[in-house]
Amino acid sequence: MSDYDVVVVGAGLAGNAAALTAAEAGASVLLLEKGERYGGTSVKAGGGLVFAGTDLQTAAGVSDNGERLREALLATGRGQNDPDTVQAYLDHQLDTYAWMRERGVVFDYHADLQPPHLNRLHGTAPGQATDALHTRALAHPDVTYRPRCRALRLRRGGDGRVDGVSVVAADADRGEETVGARRGVVLASGGFARSDALVRTFAPQWLEATRMGGADNTGDGLTMAWALGAGLADMAQVEASFGASVPNFPDLDDTGGAEPKLLYANAQGAVIVNREARRFVNEALNYKQISGVCARQTDGLAFQVFDQRIMDRSLPHPLPSDFKGALAEGRVLAADTLAGLAALTGLDEAALTATLAAYNSYVEAGEDPDFGRPVTAFDDGRIAVAPFYAYPCRNGLTTTYCGLTVDRSLRVLDVFGEPIEGLYAAGEVVGGFHGAAYYSGTGLGKAAVLGRGAGLAVAG
Ligand SMILES: Cc1cc2nc3c(=O)[nH]c(=O)nc-3n(C[C@H](O)[C@H](O)[C@H](O)COP(=O)(O)OP(=O)(O)OC[C@H]3O[C@@H](n4cnc5c(N)ncnc54)[C@H](O)[C@@H]3O)c2cc1C
Repeated sequence: MSDYDVVVVGAGLAGNAAALTAAEAGASVLLLEKGERYGGTSVKAGGGLVFAGTDLQTAAGVSDNGERLREALLATGRGQNDPDTVQAYLDHQLDTYAWMRERGVVFDYHADLQPPHLNRLHGTAPGQATDALHTRALAHPDVTYRPRCRALRLRRGGDGRVDGVSVVAADADRGEETVGARRGVVLASGGFARSDALVRTFAPQWLEATRMGGADNTGDGLTMAWALGAGLADMAQVEASFGASVPNFPDLDDTGGAEPKLLYANAQGAVIVNREARRFVNEALNYKQISGVCARQTDGLAFQVFDQRIMDRSLPHPLPSDFKGALAEGRVLAADTLAGLAALTGLDEAALTATLAAYNSYVEAGEDPDFGRPVTAFDDGRIAVAPFYAYPCRNGLTTTYCGLTVDRSLRVLDVFGEPIEGLYAAGEVVGGFHGAAYYSGTGLGKAAVLGRGAGLAVAG
């Protein structure tokens, strides 16, 4: 294999953004992908990306900017976010938004997607952002794409600079080869949700969660950089996501080969009940906050229960807002009466009816004394208009949120905070950005925005 200016490890959203950006800046780029197909977790994601101060927000009458986004990120991360990594996002977020649109990514925006919060999620059809950038990358004369080719180790030159990667191609019998990277290597290999060993090391509490995300996301970039002394951040902050579908319900253990997906009817007013048909949480909380409480319910199982008014708020994307699509796929159960819904779900009819009656009375009173949900966020938040719906769900490990320490230029830092020259990282493999909790839409956002930032830095 010949040498390149830049080698990018992993062809998800971060890798494609980095590779295309670096090539457009004049670098020759090798984009490596371990799997059969590009896309990783990015093409399975709901599709919402966080940007602040966009034309779509302005057109919807929403006033927003980077400083407000910084405040929101730090508030969500309880101030434990790394300020440089957050700054890197702010440096590149609006430019990345415009750059993606120019390259065929189609965003939509609904101001009232997350009441009562200011919405920054810019929706894309699932996979569309990665598809569009990958198509552009393939068409670029300076990008060479190698699927089924796994990066194994980073090579350091005599000056300590990372100047190559050893790889193994699945369709070659040459064994391990080394490819040179004159300007540097960008790690964009995603997280480690599919590595039992790393989940056991950093997040053993989620070993039982439904594993979601890219099938080849076994933390390779993390371990490759770790072997060179890279610093790690947020490793204790891995949280599963509440809301993963149970594809073969009522069978909880066998998915029947179907891919679990996420759905959040609770963001539009659904109540969440457990197997005993009792509410157990403030449904307006973030799905990361709900996951810990859901894990303690019987069988780790919950039901989002809603009515036709909430079903009518379904949006085609982001995917977790597509209640109608979930119904068509059989992930949501429907019945004309609560008794019918109880029969379908196995919930006790009397308990379910009592729970909804109590909840509706809280909505009428304007206060939820049980869990403090802001019940006035919706015009009429009562769950009362047939047909009725239930979405059985559990916790899913979608993304691992933690990883390598980087500076504002996306250079990987060692355990002493010094840059490992020639080594950059972007996307889910980066730690420190989220801090103590996840701000929804910054997974894909971090991939695209930091991917572009790393591409500019490595080629610059
Ligand atoms: C169901 C679900 C819904 C989600 N919804 C959203 C959402 O709506 N909004 C949001 O912001 N985030 C969402 N996320 C999180 C988001 O998808 C991820 O944070 C993001 O896609 C990570 O992008 P990435 O490019 O860093 O990694 P990935 O897209 O996973 O790409 C990494 C790539 O690297 C490849 N790779 C791994 N190791 C190697 C190696 N050794 N050599 C070569 N290649 C390698 C992998 O095969 C993979 O293709 C969701 C996640 C899931 C699972």
